[in-house]
Amino acid sequence: MAHRVTLIPGDGVGPEVAAAAVKVVEATGVRIEWDSHAAGSSALERRGQPLPDPAIESIRATHLALKGPLETPIGGGYRSANVALRQIFELYANVRPVKTILPFRSYDAIDLVMVRENTEGLYVGVEHFVRVGDDPRAVAESAAIVTRKGCERIIRFAFEYAVQHGRRKVTLVHKANILKMASGLFLEVGREVAKEYDGRVAFEDKIIDNAAMQLVIRPEQFDVLVTTNMFGDILSDEMAGLVGGLGLAASANVGTGAAIFEAVHGTAPDIAAQGVVNPSALILAGAMMLDHIGEADAARRVQEAVAHAIRVDGVRTKDLGGTASTSAFTEHVVKLVRRN
Ligand code: NAD
Repeated sequence: MAHRVTLIPGDGVGPEVAAAAVKVVEATGVRIEWDSHAAGSSALERRGQPLPDPAIESIRATHLALKGPLETPIGGGYRSANVALRQIFELYANVRPVKTILPFRSYDAIDLVMVRENTEGLYVGVEHFVRVGDDPRAVAESAAIVTRKGCERIIRFAFEYAVQHGRRKVTLVHKANILKMASGLFLEVGREVAKEYDGRVAFEDKIIDNAAMQLVIRPEQFDVLVTTNMFGDILSDEMAGLVGGLGLAASANVGTGAAIFEAVHGTAPDIAAQGVVNPSALILAGAMMLDHIGEADAARRVQEAVAHAIRVDGVRTKDLGGTASTSAFTEHVVKLVRRN
């Protein structure tokens, strides 16, 4: 039976990278029935909404989406379709693997996974200014909302991910020495959940500032990291820096209602419709999606094909110093996937 997947090509370079990812996923032989929908500024122009109902209904039915980047106006304009998707489908886990494809600086064997809580913490938007005298913005107050339920589901997710992917250790990152409640609860729940995995997955905790430093000094000590929203936001970009930036980074947003797979990069308007964008990140997001639906072997073939094309065959797009067009790179990866 074919897997049904909602495809959102998105804006800017989105349609180019989405077409490439579809070709590579299909080259694995896994049968997928794509249900394609517009979202972002392209949907706003055509349908008057950045996240049209048919796209939402499709994801409700398939529980799965492969999504290109969506343009979000800075400041005013409409509400981010990405944020709306996160809220509608309660996408509480943001998973970002980072793995060396091309050695970068002194790092040549990075293989880490960040599991970031995506719905709570300081990013819930509970904040206000307090007036003092005639200054209405004399004090700013922000609340970090952390729930036991939210901590438990993300930490359990990290351990389950470790078990399913043969990973040896989960490191919980926190600031419980200072934020004794908001971060302390996360650590307390982490220690409880870790007991259930004793003997199967090792567990340690690290304070955020030390974790940030250790990541650049001795990244090989880490494996899977789990942390709250803002720490995860910052550390996942730091981790991407260990493999040369965001260009090859894929991510999964997993929730109670759906899982949405995407590239970490944006719409890259400066290079859209020129046939030069590197489609690797969304192709690798496609591999994460295959893994999620139980097609682990197909996922591995895609990951290996992308790495082989770039590292061994030297078929590289301009951002990696090469001359390959998007379509030439994609065709090469398709050939390797079919051969594996
Ligand atoms: P960006 O990632 O689109 O581009 C930053 C730079 O990296 C540009 O020079 C671009 O050409 C280059 N680049 C990005 N991806 C590339 C690729 N695959 N191959 C080659 N070069 C690549 O970041 P931005 O300019 O800050 O954002 C542009 C738009 O994208 C904004 O509207 C932003 O809101 C949106 N955005 C969306 C998502 C998403 O939907 N998940 C994520 C990030 C940004």
